[in-house]
Amino acid sequence: MKPTRPQHPAPEDAAARRAVAQVTCYPVETLPAPDLDALRALRAAAAPAGRHTVPPREALCVAVPRGSFFRIVSVEGPQVGDLNLWNAHDLSERFYSGKTRALHGTHLSTGDRMWSTFPALRPMATITDDTLDWYGFDADGGSVHDVIGTRCDPYTNRLLSGGDYHHCCHSNLTRALARHTGRPAAEVEPLVHDVLNVFMCTGFTADTHQYFMKASPVRPGDHLEFFAEIDLLVGLSACPGGDCGAEHSSDTAACYPLGIEVFTPPAERLAGYSFPAPNAYDRSHGI
Ligand SMILES: [Zn+2]
Repeated sequence: MKPTRPQHPAPEDAAARRAVAQVTCYPVETLPAPDLDALRALRAAAAPAGRHTVPPREALCVAVPRGSFFRIVSVEGPQVGDLNLWNAHDLSERFYSGKTRALHGTHLSTGDRMWSTFPALRPMATITDDTLDWYGFDADGGSVHDVIGTRCDPYTNRLLSGGDYHHCCHSNLTRALARHTGRPAAEVEPLVHDVLNVFMCTGFTADTHQYFMKASPVRPGDHLEFFAEIDLLVGLSACPGGDCGAEHSSDTAACYPLGIEVFTPPAERLAGYSFPAPNAYDRSHGI
């Protein structure tokens, strides 16, 4: 955090230095935009292809083939979900929260993409529906579905509270990935990555710019829906923080399950769809 009393005096031209124009780091006008009308038509033709339940304080991995839609649903009560995405055929290609934030901003909604890590850097999923899009940004600067947090984890919990807690989203996702792949937890743990915080309401405090959370506005029936741009392994943890209105990394919050629903369009409807290839950079890095 910035010091309340800086050790160095401001230079005479401090005001002028601060007043220069801001420039968007990554203007997205040149990004290929998703054709949401075409995706909506595809969605209308899709049939239910599976329904899964993520128990409270647990996680689940579900394979979702490209061309399918998957929906994360609030079912019994306000509940936050921590979402990981992997390329089903190469788990080293996974969701890149930081680059997605740099491209689409701190909180995602319909039309935004979830981008994958280098060197692929391609859309893994496109958000096609968000029943909480009405929330916008509140008076605290908070909003839902952030890509600014990481995931609750036992290491930070140990640093801050000294205790060991085994049902943080990081551990839930590690157990779920180990179960799904049949590999030891220690081997798959490094594949767990920073998440999309589905339904979580977060922002930065006005004074210190610290990460804050407040009770999620999600209610049973709300959903966030995605189109799978590549063959995906979807990992979802029902955060031990519940609605994340008080704390996480403990068993104190009321916690509810989350649903994952998959919908698949008829194969012939996908014939003309152009699925994204890995990034075209030649990887020579000037050598
Ligand atoms: Zn969590």
